[in-house]
Amino acid sequence: MKRKPRVLFAAYEAEPFLKTGGLGDVAGSLPKALKAQGYEIRLIMPKFGSIPEKYKARMKHICDFTLDLGWRHQYCGIDSLKTQGVTCYFVDNEYYFNREKPYGYLDDGERIAFFAKAIMDCIPYIPDFNPDIIHCNDWHTALTPVFLKSKYCPEELQGVKTIFTVHNLKFQGVYSKWCVGDLLGFTEDEAGYLGLLEGDTVNYMRGAICMADRITTVSKTYAEEICGQFFGEGLSYIFLNRKEVLSGILNGIDTKRYEPTTDSNLYKKFTDDYFESKRVNKEAFQAEMGLEVNGDKPLMVIISRLTEQKGLDLVLWILGELMSQDVQLAVLGVGDQKYEDSLSSMAGFMPEKVSVSLTFSEPLSHKFYAAADMILVPSLFEPCGLTQMIAMRYGTLPVVRETGGLKDSVMPYNKYTGEGNGFTFANYNAHELLFVLKDAINLYHNEPEAWKKLVENAIATDFSWDSSAEQYSALYKELL
Ligand code: ADP
Repeated sequence: MKRKPRVLFAAYEAEPFLKTGGLGDVAGSLPKALKAQGYEIRLIMPKFGSIPEKYKARMKHICDFTLDLGWRHQYCGIDSLKTQGVTCYFVDNEYYFNREKPYGYLDDGERIAFFAKAIMDCIPYIPDFNPDIIHCNDWHTALTPVFLKSKYCPEELQGVKTIFTVHNLKFQGVYSKWCVGDLLGFTEDEAGYLGLLEGDTVNYMRGAICMADRITTVSKTYAEEICGQFFGEGLSYIFLNRKEVLSGILNGIDTKRYEPTTDSNLYKKFTDDYFESKRVNKEAFQAEMGLEVNGDKPLMVIISRLTEQKGLDLVLWILGELMSQDVQLAVLGVGDQKYEDSLSSMAGFMPEKVSVSLTFSEPLSHKFYAAADMILVPSLFEPCGLTQMIAMRYGTLPVVRETGGLKDSVMPYNKYTGEGNGFTFANYNAHELLFVLKDAINLYHNEPEAWKKLVENAIATDFSWDSSAEQYSALYKELL
């Protein structure tokens, strides 16, 4: 019998082990969907200290070896655990990964280079799994396709193909030139050939974009956008050079995890009557957040990293004017101090209308999705964005800027046909956001039937992985 094609899916974070954003969602759910497509797929990520004990206790040590990185010779262990049918490998090095947080250390560049090298170096030591394809995700794994095309590639891996998926181009792994030799063990000529070096800087992601066999990003629109200067973050000319191997595949979400009728994080699981279920959840939420308890008030939420990317400047610019409307706003997020402070002070001024929860909490986020009538995602750029998709599962209408995956997943309300599953605006302009929000609030109050139809459309939109997994599968087949 012909064996199934083998794929090693490499990501720095993955649900249910560790998640700080959309990458964790994707790496936790896409491998399962690809397995259903007939691939033997395994996940690899670091063994972080913050992975919950219940998973660590079940991990089995399967091999260890000494990993060479520049002049460093470090212990590298591989543990494994099977969950929901997918075998996961965990790269173990206490010094690099047994820390409080996954990111935010001065030596991140070194830790991440170690991880990327381990993805390649561990394969000859893992019994019975030699992948045909290594699917790398974001800058943390960008050096793997580079090492595979370099003098460090073990002979038995020379035919292995690579896919590199860009989830967010903002983070590329840019360091000074010293790390070419000291950390990565290349000469400057080698680093130049491998696409790593640009002037006096080393750029991990640039290397992957030059060396990977295929490049994908997480929506069709973002794949086009990054070929232009504004969204290309300095790499647009390389994307243009490699356009023939670049494609955009929209992310899906784990529809089991985000299923309101079975979601035990909610105040009350949804019944078939979504509208009544939302009212119950909204009123309980308003009470918990100290907002005025009134199921008739439209409730808007933001569930997001609080950074410039997410369009918070637009929100803050119009917040005063927006709050003069009959509406409430609840924010869940952590991020830049300036946004945390501005939003908190607004909540201090009008606690019955604005609430701010400065924390990262998965269970709480589900309560936000379920309670809200609208979710605001006015991003400056958004490769895919998952919150608008998750929200729609809970009958919460997205209000988004037409960029990247937001454009590809939200169809604007058409007042003539009643079609659409949310609201959109085109330009990065605070008053465009305000006007579309006023339209949405007006529809909510004055045209309940039209609102209801939109919510039904949103709930019915298919954000499962089925169609996207098929597109990845087609790409894998091309490579094989
Ligand atoms: P990004 O990856 O750019 O942060 P995405 O929209 O792709 O944005 O994914 C964000 C993911 O992180 C979603 O699953 C969202 O629910 C979750 N999330 C964002 N902020 C928080 C938070 N403060 N608490 C819990 N979950 C959050």
